[in-house]
Order: sequence, then structure tokens, then C-alpha cells
Amino acid sequence: MSNLHKITDLKGRKRELDCIACSIQNGKVENPGKMAENEHFVAEQDYEIPIPGFVIIASKRHVYSIDELTQIEQETLIKFVFRLRKAMRELLDIKCVYLVHEEDTQNSHFHLWLFPRFKWMDDKFGTKVQSLKPIMDYARKNLKTEQNLHKVDDAIEKLRQFFTKST
Ligand SMILES: [Zn+2]
Repeated sequence: MSNLHKITDLKGRKRELDCIACSIQNGKVENPGKMAENEHFVAEQDYEIPIPGFVIIASKRHVYSIDELTQIEQETLIKFVFRLRKAMRELLDIKCVYLVHEEDTQNSHFHLWLFPRFKWMDDKFGTKVQSLKPIMDYARKNLKTEQNLHKVDDAIEKLRQFFTKST
């Protein structure tokens, strides 16, 4: 039984994939939003939602839950989260981030979101976890503008340069 996941990427291309994260890891899908990686994890701009600094950490192995990570993966993950969060604060001036890990996603590949909060989100949709869905729907529909996509690219580039210099 196939369990294809339909996506529309930031450039409007439609794809159907078994597991997006695995498809990216094995090069079936190009990943222009990758900003950092280590032996066990990749950090990339969210593939569908054009919010600058919306970072997704994905495991390189197809694991489902955080309790499947090996000791070394656990240690690598927390250091990676720490450095990304610090870089988001220092380079992108992001003052508030929500960390989200949903185990029941469609492809069930380990992902951790570093979801940046901006003032327009609070003003328009309020705060806390229940605001995330309307914010993401709004961004998907309204923020694929040239100006905003440029901000997304700029954030990717700043983080990428930071990690290139410091690893
Ligand atoms: Zn996978």
C-alpha cells in the first residue's frame, strides 16, 4: 500500500513522495534550503512554509521517535538545537522560538521544528501552540511573494555561512 505525501514546494512545484526527509537525504529531491548538517542530522528551511528562519531538523536515519535515537545521536541533537537556536537569535534577531516535534506526521520521519515567532503572528493570530496552524496556512497562501521569499533565502544564507565558518 502506498502512502504518498503530496507537497507543493516554495517554488510552486508539486511532488508526491513516500518520505520527504528520506527523499532529500538520498538526493531524490533537491534541497536548496539546507543550512547545516552533521553526521546524524540536517537543518533545513521548511519545504512548504515561507517563514524566514523556520528551521526543521531532520534525522539522517528514518526513525520515528526521539526514543529511538542512539546515545551519540541524542548528544549530537541537543548540541545542534542549541547552536541553531543561538544562531537564530544572534544572526536573525529571533527572540522567541517554539520547538515542536510531532510523532504522528504522515511520513513519520523524525523532525524537530524550530518555529520562529514574529510580531505579525502574535498580532494576527495570537500566541501559543494553537496559533501555529493558522499562521502556517496564512504563510502558505499569502507569503510566497518575491519580497518574502528573498527574506527566506537571506535567512538560509546567513545560517549557512555561520555553520560553514564554524564547523
Ligand atoms: Zn524517512
